[in-house]
Order: sequence, then C-alpha cells, then structure tokens
Amino acid sequence: MTVNVAQPVPIRLTGIGKSFEHSVKGRVHAVKDVTLEVVPGELLTLLGPSGCGKTTTLRMIAGFEQPTVGSVHIGDRDVTGLRANERNIGFVFQNYAIFPHLSIFENVAYGLRVQQKPDDEIKHAVEEVLALVGLAGYGQQQPHQLSGGEQQRVALARAIVFRPRILLFDEPLSNLDAKLRVQMRSEIQQLQKRLGITTVYVTHDQEEAMAISDRIAVMNSGSIAQIASAEDLYDRPANEFVARFIGRTNLFDGRLQSVSKDEAVVDVLGQTLRAKVAPQGVGAGDAVRVMVRPERISLVRDGGGAGISGKVVSRTFLGEKAEYHVAVGEQTVQATLYGQSRSSTFAPGESVCVVLPADDIHLMAVSA
Ligand code: ADP
Ligand code: MG
Repeated sequence: MTVNVAQPVPIRLTGIGKSFEHSVKGRVHAVKDVTLEVVPGELLTLLGPSGCGKTTTLRMIAGFEQPTVGSVHIGDRDVTGLRANERNIGFVFQNYAIFPHLSIFENVAYGLRVQQKPDDEIKHAVEEVLALVGLAGYGQQQPHQLSGGEQQRVALARAIVFRPRILLFDEPLSNLDAKLRVQMRSEIQQLQKRLGITTVYVTHDQEEAMAISDRIAVMNSGSIAQIASAEDLYDRPANEFVARFIGRTNLFDGRLQSVSKDEAVVDVLGQTLRAKVAPQGVGAGDAVRVMVRPERISLVRDGGGAGISGKVVSRTFLGEKAEYHVAVGEQTVQATLYGQSRSSTFAPGESVCVVLPADDIHLMAVSA
C-alpha cells in the first residue's frame, strides 16, 4: 500500500519548564529547563521513572499544557501560544478513549466529521488508515468486539487519519499484556518509519524504549539526564543515574593512574584496567566511577594470575544465562554468564576468580 508521506518536520524544545501548585506538595517543578531537538522523521522516546516529567513534557509539545518558561517549535513555527487543536498533532494515550457507542469507522472518522469534511473524502481517509493499522474490513465492528490490541490500533488510526505533522504517544501499550506489547511496539515502529512522521514516545519501560527508538532521552526529576541511542546509553552512560536506570550494572570506585589522548589507566579492585576515554575534567590521581556490565565479567576457577579472587554469594539460573553475585572484599560483583560458560557452574560459597575486561571499561565522574 502506498502512503502519502508529508515532509517531516523537527520539534524543538527550548528551555521549557513547568511548575504546578500541588495541594499537598506545594510548588512542584515537574519539568525543569528541557532543551532538545527531535530531528525530522525521528522517533525519540522520553524514558524515566514515574513522576520524572515525561507526560508533562509531552503535554507541552501537544499544547494541552502551557510551559511556565521556554518555547516549543514544530517545524519552523513557534507554537508555544497555540492551543492543541491548532498544532496539527496526532496523540495516542494509554487509555484508548474510544467512543463505545460508535462503530470503528465512526470512531476514526469522528474528527474529520467535526471538521465537516465531505463524505467521500472521509470514507477514503478512514479506509486507508484502517488498512494501514491492519484493520481493513473492521469499519462496521463495534469497539466491544475488538481485543485490547485492536482497540489500540483504532486509537492509532484516529491519531493519523488527519495526516498530523507530528505524532505523540503516552505509554500507549501499558494496558496490553506482555506478548501483545512486544508485537504492538514493533508495529508502531514500522508504521512510524513508513509514514516518516516525527514522533515523541513516552514510556517508563526501558526495553520498550530500546526496541523502538532512534534515540532515547532519559529523564530524571524533570531534567534530561542524557539523550543518545540505546547502544550509547548502555555502553557509555553519561552519569550514574543513566548507568543504573538502563540495564544492570556494576559500579566500582576507581582512581586514575594516568590519562592520555587515547587511554585512561585506572586502579580498581586492586587491578589496573584501561578505558578509551576519561570523563571531562579529571586527571591522574582523581577518583572516578568505573562501570562494568555484568555480561562483560567472566568467572574462572583459576585465573592464572589475572583477575581478582572472590567468593560466590548466589547463583540464579535463568535458562539462557545464569546470574551470579560474587563477594570481592567489601564489594559485591554481579556477573552474567551466557551459553557455554553458564554450564561451568559455581556453587555458593565456592572461591572463584573474577576477570574484568582489561581494556574496555567505562569511566564516569563521581556524582556530587
Ligand atoms: P511522568 O509522566 O514522568 O510519570 P508527570 O509529567 O505526569 O510524570 O508528572 C511530573 C510531576 O508533576 C509529578 O510529581 C506530578 O505529581 C506533577 N504533576 C503533573 N501534573 C500535575 C498537575 N496538573 N498538578 C499538580 N502536579 C502535577
Ligand atoms: Mg506519565
């Protein structure tokens, strides 16, 4: 099926902030000084724990909420003062907000009827988007005849039937079961790429974010902690918050031995390891935080001089992998062993040798 793809536009948030008067908490700074650009055609996800300001940021892009400070641009237009219905956006909510007494066709057609579009134009547009979301032929069905996943497709069809300039999603899959969530997220991603519409997607689910996004903006307490691809967030988090929020991680205290153009040598857990870069503004003798993902660590019976001795605290077998906690001095090291290496098992209480990746660790500044 061919799709008319309009020229995608950028979304620019410049220093936007939003505070609320809360009856219990007093003045709440829900969003603080957020600046970011969503490039044309990109799917950018706002990811973060509950209450970090994701929905408020999205609602300011949509025009449901006015920023206390800052500006919102869609394309080259400053839309900060415009209402939601003047911004030409498609919005998909967690609750599908489908009209229960209207057919699927009329649910999708609703907004176009309000705009008093001619019948034949409405028919064409609705049938086209129903086909696009995999609901061709469902027009005469009633909402209660549809599954949760199909209802969410109706909500999606209703958001795109206008040919909006941008698409916004707020936790659209939260009400679906785990299997359907995985299927729907890849459908949303494919549809977004096919339409090429610049999209902002909100979720608290890191796996969902990693699966669908071109880039992810990790939010913490109303601010952006880092904006990057999923790979960069995982391998090169900018700070401890991101390191802990994305995936599982080991964080150790280290001290820099030396820093040069292409490597930083660090003492950590009595070992000397190498990183490709040092964090900004630190030099020889300074304390740093050393991040090592659990799957980068190996456990062996005899390190032959390499590695650090430790004692297995626990082992959890999870099918394709086994997760270990190993006590090394005062610290606990998490190690995940996959495939072959997982079958060489170590029992709790056993002495093991913990081998860290010698020349590719990630260093971060010590948080204040
Ligand atoms: P998220 O979507 O990341 O869970 P929200 O943007 O919904 O977070 O909320 C961020 C913060 O702002 C929370 O502390 C929330 O309680 C507060 N907040 C959001 N909307 C309002 C409102 N209308 N009135 C008062 N406080 C609000
Ligand atoms: Mg929210």
